[in-house]
Amino acid sequence: MNKLCSKCDIIKSYDCFYKHKGYKDGYGSYCKLCYKSYHKKYNADNYERKQFIKKRWEKNNKEHLQNWRKEYDSKYIKKNSEKINSYNAGRRAERISAIPSDIRKRDYSKIKEIYSDAKDCQWLPESKLEVDHIIPLKNKKVCGLHVSWNLQILPRKQNNTKKNKFDGTYNNESWRVK
Ligand SMILES: [Zn+2]
Repeated sequence: MNKLCSKCDIIKSYDCFYKHKGYKDGYGSYCKLCYKSYHKKYNADNYERKQFIKKRWEKNNKEHLQNWRKEYDSKYIKKNSEKINSYNAGRRAERISAIPSDIRKRDYSKIKEIYSDAKDCQWLPESKLEVDHIIPLKNKKVCGLHVSWNLQILPRKQNNTKKNKFDGTYNNESWRVK
């Protein structure tokens, strides 16, 4: 069985047409090739039009858009700061040290908890709290892991003193003594 394509005027077999319930014989009136090129052109034309409308809208709403984005960003960061911090730390750790994925999965909720603890205690008078890797991730001699048992919460001031120091012990405490 064949069908005439109403676009290219060529008679083709039915498998050259897409099925289309809206037509009597159950197949569209354009052949697949014509259909594809029609859509390509339609999308291309429309893309430019859509971009134009979008650009114009953005131009007219520049200030509104900037404010909205600022507000959205700061809200998002505030709401998700512990998520972002723990995610970033995880990414950093992944880049420098390999943690077996099953351990990471099991440990993930504990890590998140530590970050959210640090965030919950931000009202403490000590100064801002940060999550620190007891054994640093970046050090010439050692590469600590981003796992819950290598995390501790430190006031930022102390964390700045500690930096990536490593004294060769598990507790890595000697940075405290000056
Ligand atoms: Zn055709």
